[in-house]
Amino acid sequence: MSDKILEIKHLKKYFALKNRLVVKAVDDVSLELNRGETLGLVGESGSGKSTIAYVLVGMYEATEGEILYKGGDLAKAGLYRTLKQKGEIQIVFQDPGSSLNPKRTIRKSLMVPLQVHDRGLSKPQMDARVEELLEAVGLPVEFADKYPRAMGGGERQLISVARALATHPSLVILDEPTSALDVSIQAKVISKLVTLQKELMLSYLFITHDLSLMRNVADRVAILYLGRLCEQAPTADFFEKPLHPYTRMLLSSIPVATSEEEELKPAKIISTGEIPSPVNVPPGCAFHQRCKDMLPVCSAERPVMREVSPGHQVCCHLYNAN
Ligand code: SF4
Repeated sequence: MSDKILEIKHLKKYFALKNRLVVKAVDDVSLELNRGETLGLVGESGSGKSTIAYVLVGMYEATEGEILYKGGDLAKAGLYRTLKQKGEIQIVFQDPGSSLNPKRTIRKSLMVPLQVHDRGLSKPQMDARVEELLEAVGLPVEFADKYPRAMGGGERQLISVARALATHPSLVILDEPTSALDVSIQAKVISKLVTLQKELMLSYLFITHDLSLMRNVADRVAILYLGRLCEQAPTADFFEKPLHPYTRMLLSSIPVATSEEEELKPAKIISTGEIPSPVNVPPGCAFHQRCKDMLPVCSAERPVMREVSPGHQVCCHLYNAN
């Protein structure tokens, strides 16, 4: 039996602007996620990583492609998913300050998904479930009657996690869940997410711009550039043998903690040129204007994704030429 929980095939999400301009925010992305796995989806601002998240949770309709989840195609369902499908795929946003209603107590915020997805619950059963959710994320049950403003950033983010868990999800999309937090608080939230994943057999799509964070958190890593996937690989393989010139550039500038990691790190690569506008993605390889290894074919022909070793895929003419 397949262990895949999610299969994204050739996903596209385009936005039409005035003057017939089109932003190709996500352009032919294929990804898989296994049950109980964390896939780190890494990219700079404007790479399309959050757009993929919003399509997956049904906030945006896909322009093209398939999103296969438990035997159904969520892309076909568009914004009209079943309640069960909505409950099973949840998202935790970057900023807990703006994703929690400041006028609601934590109890009321946590009751909202229960009122929609667990309609048969009585008031005492809902109160019990709220306490259970707070305990699951390691917060005292007394927090139920607090307002978000009376809590720290890490505590508010744990409330967002509790709210996501309220509907018994299988897949949780973590959209930069710790980037708005202090480093010491980040570690606490990440540790709780890892524990919850094991306890509840959750699958995580962990979206981040912080590649170094993925070294210890992700089972596999995928890199996005201007709406296109460059490379994906199991985490150890990814950090030991990065292949795509853009991946190597990103890795050359991240901080490392040990001498072994320093040894594996590519020599510093200074980026040439600016990231092009997503409205005007260059022809051929989207990275060719910044790539030091560019071949003549790169400005004319878009490379295709190719598997170079088990589970390690790269989209670059350097590897297509072999
Ligand atoms: Fe560089 Fe060409 Fe590979 Fe693009 S396809 S990353 S331009 S070598």
